[in-house]
Amino acid sequence: KLHNTILELKGNIRVFCRVRPLLADESCSTEGKIFSYPTSMETSGRAIDLAQNGQKHSFTFDKVFTPEASQEEVFLEISQLVQSALDGYKVCIFAYGQTGSGKTYTMMGRPGHPEEKGLIPRSLEQIFQTKQSQQPQGWKYEMQVSMLEIYNETIRDLISTTTRMENGTPGKQYTIKHDANGNTQVSDLTVVDVHSAKEVAFLLNQAANSRSVGKTQMNEQSSRSHFVFTLRIYGVNESTDQQVQGVLNLIDLAGSERLSKSGSTGDRLKETQAINKSLSSLSDVIFALAKKEDHVPFRNSKLTYLLQPCLGGDSKTLMFVNISPDPSSIGESLCSLRFASRVN
Ligand code: ADP
Ligand code: MG
Repeated sequence: KLHNTILELKGNIRVFCRVRPLLADESCSTEGKIFSYPTSMETSGRAIDLAQNGQKHSFTFDKVFTPEASQEEVFLEISQLVQSALDGYKVCIFAYGQTGSGKTYTMMGRPGHPEEKGLIPRSLEQIFQTKQSQQPQGWKYEMQVSMLEIYNETIRDLISTTTRMENGTPGKQYTIKHDANGNTQVSDLTVVDVHSAKEVAFLLNQAANSRSVGKTQMNEQSSRSHFVFTLRIYGVNESTDQQVQGVLNLIDLAGSERLSKSGSTGDRLKETQAINKSLSSLSDVIFALAKKEDHVPFRNSKLTYLLQPCLGGDSKTLMFVNISPDPSSIGESLCSLRFASRVN
């Protein structure tokens, strides 16, 4: 409850920063640490300093997770936000950061390590548990899942196998429309009724296998597409006739790394430009919303247009900025922190 109160007081956009631990094969040779976490009374748990060439860059966010933070600790900080989707709110949670910074780990977890499962499976478990526990009060919920990726400004269905294989089939339009109730409709997109967290886990697993992956110099598994998981929740209370409609969007964004570092040419260059365009559109939209500007440029990218109904009004947005602690990533880390403090 406390968390929702804070959200209401401070507006509906939050930014959490998460620094992942060094991996076994990463050098920890640099003298002195790059990152430190000041613990003054006011900003404890919210501040991060980055030291580069003897210069200190300081940032504060709504929350900073140090490399020691477990998946469970991170989830605890967002569980109220997830819960609010069951109360009828529209919620978006993004993971932003360069390739290898821990976005997919934060969202999905580590494959084969159930104790390290990420926000998406944990959110679903919580939602289905709550669904169960609210039955005695007369609440009935129906849930629908869709999953898509946006690759080069083109939508791909991650549930329907036929559309996945045909990749850009003529006839499949995936046109984005906003209906009178303020909901997004994507034509031809598969929407599945789901009844358990397990069922969704199965769909997620399939989707993960079909995401576009490309080889950059930085990371073979690098994801060059935005992954958008959407859970629609329709709740009705059979004793009071109360109705709620909530949406939970969980988004694993494409890597934010800049052009030169990934050594992009040809198709890769085109991809990178599409990614840059949509990430800067996202930043522009969130910035405009945070500043309560009259014009919010939702239409500048597929991603922001798709999520438009879930980004304004009384919807709730949380952005994770994922950071790699590797000294060789210091430039990208600084860029990510600056990006995030702009939208904060
Ligand atoms: P991204 O999706 O941003 O490209 P990943 O989530 O794939 O990055 O993370 C890169 C690597 O770091 C993976 O091997 C992942 O398991 C590991 N990793 C990321 N975050 C953590 C963390 N908090 N704790 C342990 N390992 C992590
Ligand atoms: Mg990833």
